[in-house]
Amino acid sequence: RAAGAKPQLRVLLAGPRGFCAGVDRAIRVVEEALRQYGAPVYVRHEIVHNRTVVEALEAQGAIFVEELDEVPPDGHVVFSAHGVPKSVPAEAERRNLLYLDATCPLVSKVHREAERHYAGGGPDTRHILMIGHAGHPEVIGTMGQLPPGAVTLVQDAEEARSVAPADPMHLAFITQTTLSVDDTAEIVDILRTRFPHIEGPKREDICYATTNRQEAVKAIAPGCDLVIVIGSPNSSNSQRLREVAERSGAPRALLVPKLADLDWSALEGVRTLGITAGASAPEALVQEMVTALAGTYALEIEERTVRKEDVIFKLPAPLG
Ligand code: SF4
Repeated sequence: RAAGAKPQLRVLLAGPRGFCAGVDRAIRVVEEALRQYGAPVYVRHEIVHNRTVVEALEAQGAIFVEELDEVPPDGHVVFSAHGVPKSVPAEAERRNLLYLDATCPLVSKVHREAERHYAGGGPDTRHILMIGHAGHPEVIGTMGQLPPGAVTLVQDAEEARSVAPADPMHLAFITQTTLSVDDTAEIVDILRTRFPHIEGPKREDICYATTNRQEAVKAIAPGCDLVIVIGSPNSSNSQRLREVAERSGAPRALLVPKLADLDWSALEGVRTLGITAGASAPEALVQEMVTALAGTYALEIEERTVRKEDVIFKLPAPLG
């Protein structure tokens, strides 16, 4: 190349990427609550797992807390998109707090499935195996829909092989919404083989957004030298995107929360770069990255959209 000319970089943008309908709704719940009730509005847990989103809402007057005892008696509080155990709204009611539930409707759907299997703990009750990751707020929220002991967590194929439910004739499974589609299929196969009477969804409870983003990154990964997943380390679906990229043929995949966190030396020798973003990462972070890359490289950008999405969720009743 001519002296001074920018090096070439091909960029494949995975589509769909970034915000899902549940994240979009959760952010609108906080913004609308701020508009209708005024600041401050308290939010229990990060509304979605993204620092940029959290900081933007803080700037508008949201205060993020981990537990309800940090909310003053007359406060408005929003529950995050990941869902909460039943004890949380119960505690909010006991304390007369005004609460709004930003739980994604696709997470609430899994809560209802769990309740249906439990059947009030009566003669038709089924013990539930929940496929998911220990400690994730969605798992805590879903398991917390039922009394302790009603749900056993199954984290991987090994645990699916070793779990020993007391009554295999009365068994059901549910899943976290943001898991790896391929890993979960394997775990479900093991459970169905070991427990032919197990009830559950046709495949799993992984949501459309997680499924589509994994499919999209699979489509670009084989042609990339590096895939950057824009997303936060505590975002389950973003972590899965990084793993899926590497398993689908990208020699390397990095989770990068935002441009300022990018280690530019990772781009050395890269001719084709894939970019995607987790369901909680704003598109502005993708555009910021592309703009910065254009300062250093002569970019050839290609959008690879595997599926169109048009899902929109309504706001919860008090705000809608
Ligand atoms: Fe809802 Fe899926 Fe988005 Fe989670 S990732 S908020 S389940 S649409």
